[in-house]
Amino acid sequence: MRVGILGAGQLGQMLALAGIPLGMRFTFFSPTANESADAVGNVIVGEYDDFDALRRFAELVDVVTYEFENVSSEAVSEIEKIRPVWPPRAALFTSQDRGSEKAMFTQLGIPVAPYRLVDSLQDLEEAVREVGLPGILKTRRLGYDGKGQARVYSRSDAEPAWNALRPGPLIYEGFVDFDRELSVIAVRSEGGATFCYPVAENHHRDGILRVTYAPAKALPDSKRLQAEGFARALLDALGYVGVFAIEMFDTAAGLVVNEMAPRVHNSGHWTIEGAETSQFENHVRAVCGLPLGDCGPVGHSVMFNLIGEHPDISRVLAVPDAHLHLYGKTERAGRKLGHVTIRSRTSEDAQRHEASLRAIPLIG
Ligand code: AMP
Repeated sequence: MRVGILGAGQLGQMLALAGIPLGMRFTFFSPTANESADAVGNVIVGEYDDFDALRRFAELVDVVTYEFENVSSEAVSEIEKIRPVWPPRAALFTSQDRGSEKAMFTQLGIPVAPYRLVDSLQDLEEAVREVGLPGILKTRRLGYDGKGQARVYSRSDAEPAWNALRPGPLIYEGFVDFDRELSVIAVRSEGGATFCYPVAENHHRDGILRVTYAPAKALPDSKRLQAEGFARALLDALGYVGVFAIEMFDTAAGLVVNEMAPRVHNSGHWTIEGAETSQFENHVRAVCGLPLGDCGPVGHSVMFNLIGEHPDISRVLAVPDAHLHLYGKTERAGRKLGHVTIRSRTSEDAQRHEASLRAIPLIG
């Protein structure tokens, strides 16, 4: 199979690294050259609104998927005239807008933080009155890694928050008092077979994922089943094909869903070593119509993102059970440059090796 991927970043690199041994070959489409995926396939450089370039790209492959979800509806329509595109457009477009995403969660009975859509300062003042304080004002579109957000602690924060993010469309959400953040990654085939990876526990700093523990520690079965139920309901409602992720808050009152991603996800990088079949392999299997692989865990995993600056690579590789992945990117503040996964047979070993890794400057 020849697989086309919109986007050519590290997720594309890892999808190809999983698909090449299955006989797949990869072509990427990206507005910029010198991306991570250069190492593993052909990159066609073009803008996402250059329909001639998109058509040429589609002609080169058998099926198209994406690792970057801010692709326009028109671009996907153009490609769909030539080749199938998975995951389906409904998933892509619902997740592009936090408002439509929250509406879908609510329709399926999935709990979310109280929220109001905001298109003016008056809307925001009303939202603050109705939803309460503290809260978070977010852009509805194109937000990632905590970008496009402003905290609102008091009524006097409303105007500066509006000025920072205007003109919208925006969303105001009540602040969720959570114990920890969790995610569940699931995969669905065209025939409807669905499997979930173990729920993972995620630690963020400055809105960026830093560390994932998988499986999440001390998660009651009731919450695991609830998280899996959310994933299955969404995947079925969307007629989904491929890998998908949901991010959630674990609170004393139960799980509250924050957002979904219609693609392989950073909180699933541990699956490369820590699951029987990685999220990347299962995604390419699903979009190519192949049987899905077992999502069960292999040992205990801890994944650290490498952000902004590279650590001493020799020290990382000297830690037992450490697996290093670099994305071939230059250093820049806040940029994800790679990740390291500790995958150990016992949780005690994983903890010990995690401590050794954390002792290395720039990790954690
Ligand atoms: P997001 O871009 O929605 O994934 O938000 C980035 C991070 O901000 C999340 O991982 C949380 O740590 C935090 N956050 C977002 N929304 C809320 C909320 N409603 N209540 C509390 N924390 C939040």
